[in-house]
Amino acid sequence: MYKKASRQAEEFINHQEILASMEYAQKNKGNRKLMEALLHRAEDFRGLSHREALLLLECEEPDLVERMFGLARKIKQKFYGNRIVMFAPLYLSNYCVNGCTYCPYHYKNKHIVRKKLTQEEIRQEVIALQDMGHKRLALETGEDPVNASLDYVLESIRTIYGIQHKNGAIRRVNVNIAATTVENYRRLKEAGIGTYILFQETYHKEHYEELHPTGPKHDYAWHTEAMDRAMEGGIDDVGIGVLFGLSHYRYDFTGLLMHAEHLEAVFGVGPHTISVPRIRNADDIDASAFADAVSDELFARIVAVIRIAVPYTGMIISTRESKATREKVLELGVSQISGGSRTSVGGYVREESEEENSAQFEVSDTRSLDEVVHWLLGLGMIPSFCTACYREGRTGDRFMKLVKSGQIANCCQPNALMTLKEYLTDYASEDTRRSGEALIEKELTSIASEKIRERTRAYLKEIEHGKRDFRF
Ligand code: SF4
Ligand code: SF4
Repeated sequence: MYKKASRQAEEFINHQEILASMEYAQKNKGNRKLMEALLHRAEDFRGLSHREALLLLECEEPDLVERMFGLARKIKQKFYGNRIVMFAPLYLSNYCVNGCTYCPYHYKNKHIVRKKLTQEEIRQEVIALQDMGHKRLALETGEDPVNASLDYVLESIRTIYGIQHKNGAIRRVNVNIAATTVENYRRLKEAGIGTYILFQETYHKEHYEELHPTGPKHDYAWHTEAMDRAMEGGIDDVGIGVLFGLSHYRYDFTGLLMHAEHLEAVFGVGPHTISVPRIRNADDIDASAFADAVSDELFARIVAVIRIAVPYTGMIISTRESKATREKVLELGVSQISGGSRTSVGGYVREESEEENSAQFEVSDTRSLDEVVHWLLGLGMIPSFCTACYREGRTGDRFMKLVKSGQIANCCQPNALMTLKEYLTDYASEDTRRSGEALIEKELTSIASEKIRERTRAYLKEIEHGKRDFRF
């Protein structure tokens, strides 16, 4: 039976409820009145249920689809403005004991070289990332209790936070590692992680078990209930996602929103972020072998409806997607993107040979961070390297209260401008610097409070004189 607040995976991600929602959406997709009423209600920015959102996803009326995109843009603008938070993935190890059929790190793959960074190699990678201008990382490892134990991950986090190189600093480390115990989540929290990220891959239990035939990840309930354990362990910012293309998108889209509703019902705070990756080619993985591929058009629609359904949840897109796709979905709802990413172990210091091939997936957007920043500036967006909230203790429900009231913008806008200024001063090319300075001048005027505006101006001057790390 469907129970949103149950602690059991098959009750809060209930198969029958998803099927019933899919049937409801099919039955009502021609019901203009219902769809119009939903869009009207969503204009109050309080979101939609999984069932309502699925109905919008099915909408076939071109004018209503346009209205839907318009509303997604409006919500994006209201809560996130034109700011885009930047991050980079850092792959620590590609050892893995699982048998996932869509990932080249699966344990049976003998073509790829297995690597695990030493602490000195991590230092070198992080210095390379700092020299690009990154302040926020997402740590990635395969699951391997021997080669990539939790102790190793914790030691790596300490190493990363401890590196001061020129004006560089990694100020927020998000962690994307396998589902683990409450005790281990507690230890991650104590190590000062930002968000704990874990993708469900697919919510369809039967498909999930086929796609994960062996290893600890085969256990659907253990994986699906991981965010509950993370929250119990004190991590109040969690990031969820599915790998679109693995299973049927309607099913996974609905499951994703049900997961968000579950966390809100149990812990009073929904996910901090939702990621929307699509399956990509990699070493022995052929994406075209997966029949449920999501087209670019449908992908844009998915992003827009997620934006409408959960207006307060940040949305992340990686360099899996091309420049053109990223451009399209930025305005519809995505609030965080990676830039200049390497998806191989040790890839920031040294480019790999063909034979080594330790990348988890092929990158579509291969531009440097400076090129990505320049491109965003050209689109009139503010690349932000802000990491202020978690460092100011604004996490979990404290953070959500500020987001829901709209007050967070009083922090986001000046923080975006100040961290962009740091980037321009320390790392940008001449062209990027020029565009960025002009944008900062223009965007300063949009800080509503005169007091904050003037303080921001003063801090920007101090950044020019060598000071760093101001934040609201
Ligand atoms: Fe291992 Fe994760 Fe790849 Fe599965 S998806 S093989 S758990 S690294
Ligand atoms: Fe994110 Fe908080 Fe910075 Fe805004 S102020 S960009 S919410 S970290």
